Amino acid sequence: MDDCIFCNIVKKEAHCDIVYEDQHSVAFTDINKQAPVHILVIPKKHIRSLAELKDEDLAIIGHILDVANKVAEQQGISKKGYRLVINCGIESGQSVWHLHIHVLGGRRMNWPPG
Ligand code: AMP
Repeated sequence: MDDCIFCNIVKKEAHCDIVYEDQHSVAFTDINKQAPVHILVIPKKHIRSLAELKDEDLAIIGHILDVANKVAEQQGISKKGYRLVINCGIESGQSVWHLHIHVLGGRRMNWPPG
């Protein structure tokens, strides 16, 4: 999708701080960090949101969750704990319409979330 900022990151047409990349995913620092560690993990395939997942995309979800865990390990937050967030739809606050997992850590998280 030409007008998708995360697709542009996948194509290296938009600058960002990439911390991990493989054949199917990219992970990069969120431009507006909400915690000392705030990484976004995205599939390279353009999927608008979790709600629009198709059966053929299920393996991608498993993969990006695995990458999120690897990124947490890489960032040194896996032992103390971290939070994975997928905002899905308008009321959740989703603002970029390309599926992404937020990996948040490095501070104590509150519950319930805002
Ligand atoms: P969400 O609100 O769940 O859709 O999350 C979108 C996230 O993408 C927000 O936390 C933004 O700060 C982040 N974001 C938007 N554009 C960029 C960008 N160019 N590079 C890194 N993070 C971005």
